[in-house]
Formats: sequence, C-alpha cells, structure tokens
Amino acid sequence: MRTIKTRTIMTKSDQGNRWFGIDYHMNLYKGCPFGCIYCTSRCEAYHITNFDEVKVKENALEILEEELKSKTKPGVVSFGTLSDPYNPEEEELRLTRRALELINYYGFGVSIDTKSDLILRDIDILKEIASSNSVIIKISITTFDDEMASKLEPKVISSTRRFEVLKILRNNGIYAGVLMTPVLPFLTDTEENILNIIEKSHDADAKFIYTKLGVSLKTNQKDYYFEALDRLYPGLKDDYIAVYGSKQFCNTLQFRYLLELFLKKCSEYNILTDMNDIIKDYKKEIPQNEQMSLF
Ligand code: SF4
Repeated sequence: MRTIKTRTIMTKSDQGNRWFGIDYHMNLYKGCPFGCIYCTSRCEAYHITNFDEVKVKENALEILEEELKSKTKPGVVSFGTLSDPYNPEEEELRLTRRALELINYYGFGVSIDTKSDLILRDIDILKEIASSNSVIIKISITTFDDEMASKLEPKVISSTRRFEVLKILRNNGIYAGVLMTPVLPFLTDTEENILNIIEKSHDADAKFIYTKLGVSLKTNQKDYYFEALDRLYPGLKDDYIAVYGSKQFCNTLQFRYLLELFLKKCSEYNILTDMNDIIKDYKKEIPQNEQMSLF
C-alpha cells in the first residue's frame, strides 16, 4: 500500500448541497480496490492513476482537523464519492473511523457512500454524530442477484449482505437507504431487478432509494467498462454502441415505464425517491446560537 501527502482534504460541494445536502466532499483514500466494472471514479477527469490500488493520504487527519476548525459554519461532510471509505485497508488503519471522531468533536454532519460491511464497526460513532447532527448512509446496490453482483462488483460483499448491513443500520436508528446507481442497460434495467431491489429495501426498512435509471460512460471509464463486457458478456458492447453511439449518459431503454413502476412501488412502501424530500427528511438544521457556541 502506498502513502501520499495531501495539501487539502475537504472541498466545498460544487453542487451547492443539491446532491444529498452535502456541503463538503472528502476522500481519505485515493483509488479503490473493489473493482466495480462501471466505476465513474476511473474517469481521467479525476486524475487517479492505478485506480485499483489504494493510496493512503497519510497526513489527512491533521489537515482535516485544521480545516474543520477553520470553518465558520458546520455542514455535512461526504465520505466516499471517489473511493469507498471502508476499503480493506481501513480495517487496520482506521482513518475513516478517526475522521468520524473529529467530525463528531467539531459538530459536523456526515454522508457516507459504501458497499462494505465494515461500516458496522462504526455504528457507535455514527449514532453519536446523529444524536445532534445530520447523518445519511447510502448503501450502493445495483442488482439483487448475488451472482450478477459478483461479476459487476467482483471484490464487493454480496448484495444480500449489503441489504443486511442496511437493516442493521436502520435497526440502530441510523438514517440509511439505497443508492441504486448505475442502472445498466441490457443488464440490470429489468422490471424483476428493480422490483426486487425495492422489496428488499423495504424489508430492510430503507428510508430512500435514489436512482437515475442509467449509466454514465466517459473516456477511459467507458473503455474499461467495454473491456469488462467483452470478457463477461460477449457481444453486449456492440448493443451499447448501436443504441447509444458516443452518448455520455445512457438512459435505460424502458426509461418511462421503469420510472413509473419505480415511483409507484416506492410510494406504496413510503420509500422516498426525490432528492429534495430525502434532504428535508434527514438534514437537521442547527440553530444559529448552537452553531456559534461550537467555535
Ligand atoms: S466501490 Fe465505489 S469507488 Fe470503489 S470501485 Fe466500486 S463504484 Fe468505484
């Protein structure tokens, strides 16, 4: 495992907290070993060389503490937009764990994207943060079918285990749901898959499911995906090329039908699907005088 130094760790969200109410993004690790064939973090725009090798930002916690201290207004800090914060190295290094402790100490909220059950180790600190601040956990699930998941996400725990993780988080009172992204045309865009994910999310008491019903395919990330398709599903790449050409975002072919089905079923189970509704539901407003007393 390689270590690298960083000069900054938190970056202000360029989406003005429209994406899950996130105020700051942070990646304690660079690269991710989970091998998802569709991963958008492989895009050259993110400048991550040897993406499958995890690099540890060795001074991340010092910088994080300085940055948390210097902010005049607390907000929600996102872990894991470009790399899973619970990669196997985290078990020993505990960088994510220690960052959560700092976030708790300085009165910030947290948003975590993960496909790992290692998050369960940190339930205690997540509960502590949630007692006074905003916490949202997104468990990423693209297919209910464990066999397909083992092809699409070869080094990730099974989808069945991910639903169990979600249930344990919910049983502990932590706000959590499913990030059903991407939805892969010709592979996971079936009625059976979508309905099964909704059923299993409901069984796990998910607060939300968020999806865009499509996949983003850009530059070298697209090349990586197509190479994987050639290996795993020979001939499928040609279908993509025939239907989508050079499009950078590929909506599922039955977009309207699947969207209506998705919204109807989620609404029957009171599972939120709209970004604004999810933000309103989980994000706590910190009263101004309480904010001031933290600094
Ligand atoms: S877990 Fe997330 S960051 Fe890691 S390879 Fe999969 S999609 Fe990419």
